[in-house]
Amino acid sequence: MNESDTSRHFLRQWIEGDVAAGKTGGKVVTRFPPEPNGYIHIGHAKAICVDFGMAELFGGDCHLRMDDTNPAKESDEYAENIKKDISWLGFKWSGEGDGKEPGFYNASNMFDKMYEIAENLIRAGQAYCCNLTQEEWKAYRGVPEKPGVPSPRRDTPPEENLRIFREMRDGKYADGEWCLRAKIDMASPNIHFRDPVIYRIRHVSHYHLGDKWCVYPMYDFAHPIEDALEGVTHSMCTLEFEVHRPLYDWVVDRLDEMGLLVERGGVKIRPQQREFARLNLTHTVMSKRLLLQMVQTKVVDGWDDPRMPTVCGMRRRGFTPGAIREFCERIGVSKTESESDPALLEWCVREELNKTATRRMAVLDPVKVVVDNFVGSREIELPDNPLDEGAGTRKMVFGREIWIDRADFMEIPEKKFFRMAPGQEVRLRGACIFKCTGCIKDESGKVVEIHGTWDEQSWGGNAVDGRKVKGTLHWVDAATGVPVKARLYESLFSEKNPLKDGPEKFLDYLNPGSVREVSGFAEPALADAKPGERFQFERTGYFVKDRDGAFNRTVTLKDSYKPA
Ligand code: ATP
Ligand code: MG
Repeated sequence: MNESDTSRHFLRQWIEGDVAAGKTGGKVVTRFPPEPNGYIHIGHAKAICVDFGMAELFGGDCHLRMDDTNPAKESDEYAENIKKDISWLGFKWSGEGDGKEPGFYNASNMFDKMYEIAENLIRAGQAYCCNLTQEEWKAYRGVPEKPGVPSPRRDTPPEENLRIFREMRDGKYADGEWCLRAKIDMASPNIHFRDPVIYRIRHVSHYHLGDKWCVYPMYDFAHPIEDALEGVTHSMCTLEFEVHRPLYDWVVDRLDEMGLLVERGGVKIRPQQREFARLNLTHTVMSKRLLLQMVQTKVVDGWDDPRMPTVCGMRRRGFTPGAIREFCERIGVSKTESESDPALLEWCVREELNKTATRRMAVLDPVKVVVDNFVGSREIELPDNPLDEGAGTRKMVFGREIWIDRADFMEIPEKKFFRMAPGQEVRLRGACIFKCTGCIKDESGKVVEIHGTWDEQSWGGNAVDGRKVKGTLHWVDAATGVPVKARLYESLFSEKNPLKDGPEKFLDYLNPGSVREVSGFAEPALADAKPGERFQFERTGYFVKDRDGAFNRTVTLKDSYKPA
């Protein structure tokens, strides 16, 4: 991480302070806690950059913890892909781990411990079983301005609570019939403090533990326990959890009383939570629930559709891990919600690919050009990347018939159109100077063939008399070029905020032109491309080869966007 101002954000200062105060026992430990109920998206990538980035900066560990405390909708497929995507982003979890894999944890492996802690709370008179219905519970809890009403079960003796809690665990009751609540403060202005539910009944199989449990801990109870038992020092999450922080601290206090805090370097590790603003992007939606809906209704062709804001979608689109990390770095970490422009992400992608992508010539909307006075064929060698001397070169052939992009020709040129037009000279990249003499059209008026001649003394591309030729065009030799298919992507939604009318309506704002398939021709070297390889199609854009052999446009070559 560099020393720029954006990286000296409040979280970093907070951790620096704790390290200096000796609170970490010699090691900063953070965690990234995804719920394996979907694929991770660019918002998670930001959290990953913060969680792993801070651990890296302080020479500590970042745990990867599958936060699998909610049995429905979780799966190993999701968990495996989350791991794959984090690794692809360039981060490595480290630390002890709860099984064979260093740094890796499953929250569900702590269910026994969490259950035991819940019983401890009951014994200490700090939790009770409650059988209010959800509606009653909400009504009793009340509003922040006025104290809530205590549950009739609030003062039940511990023995009875223990009996009921065990019956809950043993499957005696239906979902929602009973729950376990922490006994805190029904008058607190923070309603999360008004005897929150910490365990609930869910008769649902867990993807790892099957039917072992039918009671599951709530997030607010589970998360501080997970952090504490793993020895996490700094637990960073998004702003919506700020109001839950007193509850987090309450649970940590109870763990401290129970002697359950981990010791490191002679220091008792008290995990602390801090919050930062989520990453929001315009022209897309980011909640896993909505992304899943798009996958299930086949609005997109899977979680890794190149239009998706998921990490795997961005990978298939050709985005690089470095550009995603740079983007997260540039938007920075703050305490105020804001929206980021996907154009900044694309700018980061372009900056990197300009330096690294292999150059190829491809014509995606081809029209034929016949060089009337050209005989035979000649070989050309061009650099694979003019910005990288070590990148090597590739060879291609120039012949009498070539393809150029339809947009590079105008029969009656506009002012300042320096590309191909009758009577006008252009340079054919790496080959020669060409002068157009005219074109042939079909009955509908569409240009089907362009004719012209080359300046036989201009081989390589420059005129011997030094006359200037303004336009340089890319082209593909018709005899040796290979067919290519490409998909041109635009944003998935045409509306800046697709959720402006609520989550029922967001699909109304899909961009009908978010993908367009085209086919054309490319220089022969492109035939050797492997899936995942990235290219700059000269003058056209950055593309990545997909698994079906087509090329996905990652980003266009230029954009007016400039980062602030
Ligand atoms: P979603 O709402 O998209 O389903 P989530 O918050 O439920 O996401 P989790 O798997 O629970 O997803 O999140 C794992 C971590 O990623 C959490 O710490 C969460 O705060 C963080 N995170 C999720 N979305 C964003 C975002 N848009 N920006 C920054 N961090 C995020
Ligand atoms: Mg979640």
